[in-house]
Amino acid sequence: MQNNRKPLNSVLVKPAGPDCNMACTYCFYLEKEHLFPDTKVHRMSDEILHQMVRQVMQQSGSDISFGWQGGEPTLMGLPFFEKAVEYQQKYGRGQSVGNGLQTNGILINNDWSQFLGKYNFLVGLSIDGPEHVHDHYRKMQGGSGSWQKVHDSAKRMLDHKVAVNALSVVNDYSVKFPEEIYHFHKDLGLNYMQFIPCLEKSPEDADKPTYFSVPAEDYGRFLCKIFDLWMNDFDGNIATTSVRYFDSVFYSYVGMQPPACTLLPACGVYVVVEHNGDVYSCDFFVDPEWKLGNIMNGEILEMLNSEKQTEFGNIKTRLPEECEQCTWLQFCYGDCPKDRLGDPTKANLNYFCQSYKIFFEYADERLRTLAEIWKREQQIASTQYRVKQAIASGQLEVGRNDPCPCGSGLKYKKCCGREFGA
Ligand code: SF4
Ligand code: SF4
Repeated sequence: MQNNRKPLNSVLVKPAGPDCNMACTYCFYLEKEHLFPDTKVHRMSDEILHQMVRQVMQQSGSDISFGWQGGEPTLMGLPFFEKAVEYQQKYGRGQSVGNGLQTNGILINNDWSQFLGKYNFLVGLSIDGPEHVHDHYRKMQGGSGSWQKVHDSAKRMLDHKVAVNALSVVNDYSVKFPEEIYHFHKDLGLNYMQFIPCLEKSPEDADKPTYFSVPAEDYGRFLCKIFDLWMNDFDGNIATTSVRYFDSVFYSYVGMQPPACTLLPACGVYVVVEHNGDVYSCDFFVDPEWKLGNIMNGEILEMLNSEKQTEFGNIKTRLPEECEQCTWLQFCYGDCPKDRLGDPTKANLNYFCQSYKIFFEYADERLRTLAEIWKREQQIASTQYRVKQAIASGQLEVGRNDPCPCGSGLKYKKCCGREFGA
Protein backbone atom coordinates (compact mmCIF):
# COMPACT_ATOMS: atom_id res chain seq x y z
CA MET A 1 0.00 0.00 0.00
CA GLN A 2 2.90 2.30 0.88
CA ASN A 3 3.93 2.49 -2.81
CA ASN A 4 0.54 3.82 -3.88
CA ARG A 5 1.00 6.93 -1.81
CA LYS A 6 1.07 10.15 -3.77
CA PRO A 7 4.29 12.11 -3.44
CA LEU A 8 4.00 15.72 -2.36
CA ASN A 9 5.16 17.70 -5.41
CA SER A 10 3.02 20.79 -5.34
CA VAL A 11 1.45 23.00 -2.72
CA LEU A 12 -0.56 26.19 -3.19
CA VAL A 13 -0.30 28.71 -0.39
CA LYS A 14 -2.63 31.63 0.28
CA PRO A 15 -0.66 33.65 2.84
CA ALA A 16 -3.04 36.64 2.80
CA GLY A 17 -6.17 34.50 2.43
CA PRO A 18 -8.77 36.21 0.24
CA ASP A 19 -7.45 39.75 0.91
CA CYS A 20 -6.71 41.83 -2.13
CA ASN A 21 -5.83 45.42 -3.01
CA MET A 22 -7.99 45.25 -6.13
CA ALA A 23 -11.66 44.55 -6.72
CA CYS A 24 -12.00 42.74 -10.04
CA THR A 25 -15.58 42.15 -11.08
CA TYR A 26 -15.04 38.48 -11.83
CA CYS A 27 -12.92 37.47 -8.78
CA PHE A 28 -14.12 34.23 -7.19
CA TYR A 29 -11.92 34.37 -4.11
CA LEU A 30 -12.91 37.65 -2.41
CA GLU A 31 -16.13 36.05 -1.17
CA LYS A 32 -14.11 33.48 0.81
CA GLU A 33 -13.86 36.08 3.58
CA HIS A 34 -16.94 34.48 5.14
CA LEU A 35 -14.88 31.36 5.92
CA PHE A 36 -12.67 33.39 8.26
CA PRO A 37 -15.12 35.66 10.08
CA ASP A 38 -12.93 36.27 13.15
CA THR A 39 -10.61 38.80 11.51
CA LYS A 40 -10.97 41.38 8.75
CA VAL A 41 -7.28 41.18 7.86
CA HIS A 42 -5.88 37.76 7.06
CA ARG A 43 -2.14 37.16 7.30
CA MET A 44 -0.13 33.98 7.75
CA SER A 45 1.90 34.14 10.98
CA ASP A 46 5.58 33.30 11.09
CA GLU A 47 4.75 30.25 13.20
CA ILE A 48 2.46 28.84 10.52
CA LEU A 49 4.84 29.72 7.69
CA HIS A 50 7.67 27.99 9.52
CA GLN A 51 5.66 24.85 10.26
CA MET A 52 4.26 24.69 6.72
CA VAL A 53 7.62 25.10 4.95
CA ARG A 54 9.34 22.71 7.35
CA GLN A 55 6.72 20.01 6.78
CA VAL A 56 6.67 20.48 3.01
CA MET A 57 10.46 20.39 2.71
CA GLN A 58 10.71 17.33 4.95
CA GLN A 59 7.84 15.39 3.37
CA SER A 60 8.05 16.27 -0.34
CA GLY A 61 9.35 14.12 -3.19
CA SER A 62 12.42 14.96 -5.29
CA ASP A 63 10.72 18.05 -6.76
CA ILE A 64 8.57 20.50 -4.91
CA SER A 65 6.80 23.57 -6.15
CA PHE A 66 5.33 26.27 -3.92
CA GLY A 67 2.61 28.32 -5.61
CA TRP A 68 2.03 31.55 -3.69
CA GLN A 69 -1.45 32.82 -4.48
CA GLY A 70 -4.35 34.73 -3.06
CA GLY A 71 -6.12 37.02 -2.84
CA GLU A 72 -2.97 38.98 -3.35
CA PRO A 73 0.10 37.33 -1.78
CA THR A 74 2.36 40.42 -2.07
CA LEU A 75 0.22 42.04 0.68
CA MET A 76 2.40 39.97 3.03
CA GLY A 77 5.39 42.19 2.22
CA LEU A 78 8.82 41.15 1.03
CA PRO A 79 10.23 40.08 4.46
CA PHE A 80 7.63 37.29 4.60
CA PHE A 81 8.91 35.82 1.34
CA GLU A 82 12.54 36.26 2.38
CA LYS A 83 11.68 34.19 5.44
CA ALA A 84 9.92 31.58 3.28
CA VAL A 85 13.06 31.14 1.16
CA GLU A 86 15.21 31.03 4.29
CA TYR A 87 13.07 28.19 5.71
CA GLN A 88 13.16 26.36 2.37
CA GLN A 89 16.96 26.49 2.44
CA LYS A 90 17.10 25.50 6.10
CA TYR A 91 14.89 22.42 5.73
CA GLY A 92 15.77 21.37 2.15
CA ARG A 93 17.09 17.85 1.64
CA GLY A 94 18.68 18.46 -1.74
CA GLN A 95 15.41 18.34 -3.65
CA SER A 96 14.66 20.73 -6.49
CA VAL A 97 12.50 23.62 -5.24
CA GLY A 98 10.41 25.92 -7.40
CA ASN A 99 8.53 29.03 -6.35
CA GLY A 100 5.67 30.54 -8.33
CA LEU A 101 4.05 33.84 -7.39
CA GLN A 102 0.66 34.74 -8.78
CA THR A 103 0.20 38.48 -8.46
CA ASN A 104 -1.83 41.39 -9.75
CA GLY A 105 1.46 43.32 -9.96
CA ILE A 106 0.28 46.45 -8.12
CA LEU A 107 2.95 46.30 -5.39
CA ILE A 108 5.83 45.05 -7.52
CA ASN A 109 8.65 47.59 -7.24
CA ASN A 110 12.40 47.30 -7.84
CA ASP A 111 13.03 45.53 -4.51
CA TRP A 112 10.43 42.90 -5.31
CA SER A 113 11.78 42.48 -8.84
CA GLN A 114 15.33 42.00 -7.56
CA PHE A 115 14.18 39.40 -5.05
CA LEU A 116 12.06 37.52 -7.58
CA GLY A 117 14.92 37.47 -10.07
CA LYS A 118 17.51 36.45 -7.50
CA TYR A 119 15.51 33.43 -6.28
CA ASN A 120 14.19 32.42 -9.73
CA PHE A 121 10.53 32.88 -8.90
CA LEU A 122 8.24 32.18 -11.83
CA VAL A 123 5.73 35.01 -11.74
CA GLY A 124 2.19 34.66 -13.05
CA LEU A 125 1.13 38.25 -13.66
CA SER A 126 -2.59 38.87 -14.02
CA ILE A 127 -2.85 41.01 -17.12
CA ASP A 128 -5.79 40.56 -19.44
CA GLY A 129 -4.31 42.39 -22.44
CA PRO A 130 -4.21 45.99 -23.72
CA GLU A 131 -5.70 48.77 -21.61
CA HIS A 132 -9.29 48.65 -22.84
CA VAL A 133 -9.41 44.87 -22.34
CA HIS A 134 -7.66 44.78 -18.96
CA ASP A 135 -9.50 47.71 -17.38
CA HIS A 136 -12.88 46.41 -18.46
CA TYR A 137 -13.14 44.31 -15.31
CA ARG A 138 -9.79 44.56 -13.50
CA LYS A 139 -10.51 47.55 -11.25
CA MET A 140 -8.88 49.09 -8.21
CA GLN A 141 -11.02 49.23 -5.07
CA GLY A 142 -12.07 52.82 -5.90
CA GLY A 143 -13.22 51.72 -9.35
CA SER A 144 -10.32 53.12 -11.40
CA GLY A 145 -8.41 51.01 -13.91
CA SER A 146 -5.23 49.15 -12.98
CA TRP A 147 -3.61 48.59 -16.38
CA GLN A 148 -0.91 51.27 -16.24
CA LYS A 149 0.47 50.02 -12.91
CA VAL A 150 0.40 46.38 -14.02
CA HIS A 151 1.98 47.20 -17.37
CA ASP A 152 4.81 49.09 -15.60
CA SER A 153 5.34 46.19 -13.19
CA ALA A 154 5.61 43.78 -16.11
CA LYS A 155 8.31 45.92 -17.69
CA ARG A 156 10.12 46.30 -14.38
CA MET A 157 10.22 42.57 -13.77
CA LEU A 158 11.31 41.81 -17.33
CA ASP A 159 14.11 44.38 -16.94
CA HIS A 160 15.24 42.45 -13.87
CA LYS A 161 15.18 39.21 -15.92
CA VAL A 162 12.31 37.74 -13.91
CA ALA A 163 10.47 34.90 -15.69
CA VAL A 164 6.96 36.30 -16.16
CA ASN A 165 3.93 34.43 -17.40
CA ALA A 166 0.89 36.48 -18.49
CA LEU A 167 -2.29 35.18 -16.84
CA SER A 168 -5.27 36.44 -18.82
CA VAL A 169 -8.85 35.85 -17.89
CA VAL A 170 -11.01 35.38 -20.97
CA ASN A 171 -14.40 36.95 -20.29
CA ASP A 172 -17.41 38.02 -22.34
CA TYR A 173 -15.53 41.17 -23.47
CA SER A 174 -11.91 40.06 -23.93
CA VAL A 175 -12.96 36.99 -25.94
CA LYS A 176 -13.56 39.35 -28.87
CA PHE A 177 -9.87 40.32 -29.09
CA PRO A 178 -7.66 37.20 -29.35
CA GLU A 179 -5.28 38.70 -31.90
CA GLU A 180 -4.89 41.99 -30.07
CA ILE A 181 -4.26 40.24 -26.73
CA TYR A 182 -1.73 37.77 -28.16
CA HIS A 183 0.26 40.50 -29.93
CA PHE A 184 0.05 42.80 -26.94
CA HIS A 185 1.65 40.17 -24.70
CA LYS A 186 4.29 39.31 -27.26
CA ASP A 187 5.23 42.94 -27.93
CA LEU A 188 5.58 43.54 -24.20
CA GLY A 189 7.96 40.54 -23.96
CA LEU A 190 5.47 38.21 -22.27
CA ASN A 191 6.08 35.13 -24.38
CA TYR A 192 4.53 32.78 -21.82
CA MET A 193 0.77 33.08 -21.79
CA GLN A 194 -1.98 31.37 -19.88
CA PHE A 195 -5.60 31.96 -20.78
CA ILE A 196 -8.19 31.28 -18.09
CA PRO A 197 -11.79 31.05 -19.27
CA CYS A 198 -14.09 32.96 -16.94
CA LEU A 199 -17.10 31.14 -15.55
CA GLU A 200 -18.86 32.32 -12.45
CA LYS A 201 -22.20 30.71 -11.77
CA SER A 202 -25.15 32.80 -10.77
CA PRO A 203 -25.73 32.59 -6.99
CA GLU A 204 -29.46 32.08 -7.68
CA ASP A 205 -29.10 29.31 -10.27
CA ALA A 206 -25.92 27.21 -10.61
CA ASP A 207 -26.94 26.28 -14.18
CA LYS A 208 -26.67 29.91 -15.27
CA PRO A 209 -23.42 31.79 -15.88
CA THR A 210 -23.05 35.42 -14.75
CA TYR A 211 -23.02 38.08 -17.48
CA PHE A 212 -19.23 38.47 -17.52
CA SER A 213 -18.60 34.74 -18.05
CA VAL A 214 -17.36 33.79 -21.48
CA PRO A 215 -19.87 31.99 -23.73
CA ALA A 216 -18.55 28.47 -24.46
CA GLU A 217 -18.74 28.72 -28.24
CA ASP A 218 -16.90 32.06 -28.24
CA TYR A 219 -14.16 30.62 -26.07
CA GLY A 220 -13.76 27.69 -28.48
CA ARG A 221 -13.26 30.11 -31.37
CA PHE A 222 -10.88 32.19 -29.25
CA LEU A 223 -8.72 29.09 -28.64
CA CYS A 224 -8.67 28.31 -32.39
CA LYS A 225 -7.50 31.83 -33.23
CA ILE A 226 -4.80 31.76 -30.54
CA PHE A 227 -3.75 28.33 -31.82
CA ASP A 228 -3.20 29.75 -35.32
CA LEU A 229 -1.18 32.65 -33.92
CA TRP A 230 0.88 30.26 -31.79
CA MET A 231 1.58 28.00 -34.79
CA ASN A 232 2.43 30.94 -37.06
CA ASP A 233 5.19 31.84 -34.61
CA PHE A 234 6.90 28.43 -34.87
CA ASP A 235 10.53 28.52 -35.91
CA GLY A 236 10.76 25.25 -37.84
CA ASN A 237 9.26 22.74 -35.43
CA ILE A 238 9.92 24.79 -32.33
CA ALA A 239 7.31 27.01 -30.68
CA THR A 240 8.65 30.51 -29.94
CA THR A 241 5.79 31.43 -27.60
CA SER A 242 4.26 29.29 -24.91
CA VAL A 243 0.51 28.96 -24.41
CA ARG A 244 -0.04 26.82 -21.35
CA TYR A 245 -3.15 25.03 -22.56
CA PHE A 246 -1.52 23.99 -25.85
CA ASP A 247 1.71 22.99 -24.10
CA SER A 248 -0.26 20.85 -21.66
CA VAL A 249 -2.45 19.25 -24.32
CA PHE A 250 0.70 18.48 -26.29
CA TYR A 251 1.96 16.32 -23.41
CA SER A 252 -1.14 14.17 -23.84
CA TYR A 253 -0.60 13.98 -27.60
CA VAL A 254 2.92 12.58 -27.10
CA GLY A 255 1.68 10.14 -24.45
CA MET A 256 3.09 11.92 -21.39
CA GLN A 257 1.30 13.11 -18.27
CA PRO A 258 0.21 16.74 -18.77
CA PRO A 259 1.25 19.27 -16.11
CA ALA A 260 -2.23 20.87 -15.92
CA CYS A 261 -4.44 19.09 -13.38
CA THR A 262 -7.52 19.87 -15.48
CA LEU A 263 -6.30 17.43 -18.17
CA LEU A 264 -5.66 14.52 -15.82
CA PRO A 265 -8.18 11.70 -15.27
CA ALA A 266 -8.42 12.51 -11.52
CA CYS A 267 -7.92 15.45 -9.16
CA GLY A 268 -6.31 15.49 -5.73
CA VAL A 269 -2.68 15.83 -6.82
CA TYR A 270 -1.92 18.90 -4.73
CA VAL A 271 -3.24 20.69 -1.65
CA VAL A 272 -3.93 24.30 -0.69
CA VAL A 273 -2.76 25.88 2.56
CA GLU A 274 -4.72 28.90 3.77
CA HIS A 275 -3.23 31.75 5.86
CA ASN A 276 -4.41 30.15 9.14
CA GLY A 277 -2.85 26.78 8.33
CA ASP A 278 -6.09 25.12 7.17
CA VAL A 279 -5.44 22.67 4.35
CA TYR A 280 -7.96 22.17 1.53
CA SER A 281 -8.33 19.86 -1.47
CA CYS A 282 -8.04 22.45 -4.23
CA ASP A 283 -7.91 26.16 -4.98
CA PHE A 284 -11.50 26.04 -6.22
CA PHE A 285 -12.82 23.95 -3.36
CA VAL A 286 -11.79 26.00 -0.34
CA ASP A 287 -15.01 24.98 1.40
CA PRO A 288 -15.60 23.44 4.83
CA GLU A 289 -16.61 20.20 3.08
CA TRP A 290 -13.14 19.83 1.59
CA LYS A 291 -11.03 20.88 4.55
CA LEU A 292 -8.40 18.20 5.14
CA GLY A 293 -6.97 19.49 8.42
CA ASN A 294 -4.64 22.14 9.78
CA ILE A 295 -0.89 22.28 9.38
CA MET A 296 -0.40 22.95 13.11
CA ASN A 297 -1.90 19.64 14.16
CA GLY A 298 -1.52 17.30 11.20
CA GLU A 299 0.95 16.14 8.57
CA ILE A 300 0.56 17.55 5.08
CA LEU A 301 1.63 14.32 3.33
CA GLU A 302 -1.02 12.43 5.32
CA MET A 303 -3.64 14.98 4.25
CA LEU A 304 -2.63 14.61 0.58
CA ASN A 305 -3.08 10.86 0.96
CA SER A 306 -6.17 11.01 3.14
CA GLU A 307 -9.45 9.30 2.31
CA LYS A 308 -11.11 12.67 1.92
CA GLN A 309 -8.58 13.84 -0.66
CA THR A 310 -8.98 10.55 -2.56
CA GLU A 311 -12.75 11.05 -2.47
CA PHE A 312 -12.22 14.56 -3.81
CA GLY A 313 -9.89 13.27 -6.55
CA ASN A 314 -12.50 10.75 -7.67
CA ILE A 315 -15.11 13.42 -8.39
CA LYS A 316 -13.38 14.08 -11.70
CA THR A 317 -13.43 10.39 -12.65
CA ARG A 318 -17.24 10.28 -12.58
CA LEU A 319 -18.10 11.59 -16.02
CA PRO A 320 -21.35 11.97 -17.92
CA GLU A 321 -22.15 9.57 -20.77
CA GLU A 322 -21.25 12.26 -23.32
CA CYS A 323 -17.65 12.35 -22.04
CA GLU A 324 -17.38 8.55 -21.81
CA GLN A 325 -18.28 8.32 -25.50
CA CYS A 326 -16.27 11.35 -26.59
CA THR A 327 -13.48 11.18 -29.19
CA TRP A 328 -11.50 13.75 -27.21
CA LEU A 329 -11.75 12.07 -23.80
CA GLN A 330 -8.04 11.20 -23.53
CA PHE A 331 -7.09 14.86 -24.14
CA CYS A 332 -9.82 16.47 -22.05
CA TYR A 333 -11.08 14.10 -19.33
CA GLY A 334 -14.07 16.36 -18.85
CA ASP A 335 -11.77 19.27 -17.84
CA CYS A 336 -12.07 20.93 -14.40
CA PRO A 337 -15.04 19.83 -12.25
CA LYS A 338 -15.49 23.37 -10.94
CA ASP A 339 -16.78 24.26 -14.42
CA ARG A 340 -19.44 21.56 -14.46
CA LEU A 341 -22.92 22.92 -14.75
CA GLY A 342 -24.99 22.72 -11.59
CA ASP A 343 -23.40 20.75 -8.74
CA PRO A 344 -19.69 20.26 -9.59
CA THR A 345 -19.48 17.08 -7.51
CA LYS A 346 -22.10 15.37 -9.73
CA ALA A 347 -21.29 13.81 -13.11
CA ASN A 348 -22.59 16.84 -15.01
CA LEU A 349 -21.25 17.99 -18.36
CA ASN A 350 -18.62 20.73 -18.33
CA TYR A 351 -19.83 24.22 -19.29
CA PHE A 352 -16.84 24.51 -21.69
CA CYS A 353 -17.46 21.16 -23.42
CA GLN A 354 -18.44 22.90 -26.63
CA SER A 355 -15.28 25.06 -26.49
CA TYR A 356 -13.07 21.98 -26.31
CA LYS A 357 -14.92 20.15 -29.06
CA ILE A 358 -14.52 23.18 -31.34
CA PHE A 359 -10.85 23.42 -30.46
CA PHE A 360 -9.94 19.74 -30.85
CA GLU A 361 -11.82 19.42 -34.14
CA TYR A 362 -9.87 22.42 -35.40
CA ALA A 363 -6.41 21.62 -34.02
CA ASP A 364 -6.27 17.82 -33.75
CA GLU A 365 -4.61 17.12 -37.10
CA ARG A 366 -1.88 19.70 -36.57
CA LEU A 367 -1.30 18.57 -32.98
CA ARG A 368 -0.94 14.95 -34.17
CA THR A 369 1.58 16.01 -36.83
CA LEU A 370 3.57 18.02 -34.28
CA ALA A 371 3.51 15.05 -31.90
CA GLU A 372 4.80 12.69 -34.63
CA ILE A 373 7.64 15.08 -35.47
CA TRP A 374 8.53 15.46 -31.80
CA LYS A 375 8.54 11.71 -31.20
CA ARG A 376 10.71 11.12 -34.29
CA GLU A 377 13.18 13.78 -33.15
CA GLN A 378 13.29 12.26 -29.67
CA GLN A 379 13.99 8.87 -31.22
CA ILE A 380 16.83 10.25 -33.37
CA ALA A 381 18.30 12.14 -30.40
CA SER A 382 18.31 9.04 -28.25
CA THR A 383 19.85 6.88 -31.04
CA GLN A 384 22.48 9.57 -31.64
CA TYR A 385 23.29 9.53 -27.95
CA ARG A 386 23.79 5.74 -27.99
CA VAL A 387 25.86 5.86 -31.20
CA LYS A 388 28.12 8.58 -29.81
CA GLN A 389 28.61 6.62 -26.59
CA ALA A 390 29.58 3.52 -28.60
CA ILE A 391 32.04 5.49 -30.78
CA ALA A 392 33.56 7.30 -27.81
CA SER A 393 34.15 3.97 -26.02
CA GLY A 394 35.65 2.37 -29.16
CA GLN A 395 32.85 -0.23 -29.52
CA LEU A 396 31.88 1.14 -32.93
CA GLU A 397 33.97 2.31 -35.85
CA VAL A 398 32.49 4.20 -38.81
CA GLY A 399 34.07 5.51 -42.04
CA ARG A 400 33.62 9.26 -42.57
CA ASN A 401 31.64 8.71 -45.80
CA ASP A 402 29.50 5.86 -44.42
CA PRO A 403 25.83 6.46 -43.69
CA CYS A 404 25.57 7.64 -40.10
CA PRO A 405 24.54 4.69 -37.86
CA CYS A 406 22.04 6.90 -36.03
CA GLY A 407 19.69 6.54 -39.00
CA SER A 408 19.47 10.25 -39.89
CA GLY A 409 20.16 9.44 -43.57
CA LEU A 410 23.22 11.75 -43.58
CA LYS A 411 26.83 10.77 -44.06
CA TYR A 412 28.67 10.06 -40.82
CA LYS A 413 31.01 13.06 -41.33
CA LYS A 414 27.99 15.38 -41.65
CA CYS A 415 26.18 13.98 -38.63
CA CYS A 416 27.40 12.30 -35.43
CA GLY A 417 30.96 12.15 -36.81
CA ARG A 418 31.30 15.94 -36.56
CA GLU A 419 31.76 15.65 -32.84
CA PHE A 420 34.69 13.28 -33.41
CA GLY A 421 36.36 15.35 -36.18
CA ALA A 422 35.40 12.85 -38.94
S1 SF4 B 1 -10.99 20.74 -9.38
FE1 SF4 B 1 -10.03 21.64 -11.19
S2 SF4 B 1 -8.34 22.90 -10.40
FE2 SF4 B 1 -8.99 21.53 -8.72
S3 SF4 B 1 -7.58 19.76 -8.89
FE3 SF4 B 1 -9.46 19.30 -10.07
S4 SF4 B 1 -9.00 19.90 -12.19
FE4 SF4 B 1 -7.49 20.89 -10.84
S1 SF4 C 1 -14.96 17.56 -25.07
FE1 SF4 C 1 -16.85 17.58 -23.82
S2 SF4 C 1 -17.68 15.52 -23.98
FE2 SF4 C 1 -15.55 15.45 -24.65
S3 SF4 C 1 -14.39 14.83 -22.83
FE3 SF4 C 1 -14.36 17.11 -22.96
S4 SF4 C 1 -16.10 17.79 -21.73
FE4 SF4 C 1 -16.41 15.62 -22.13
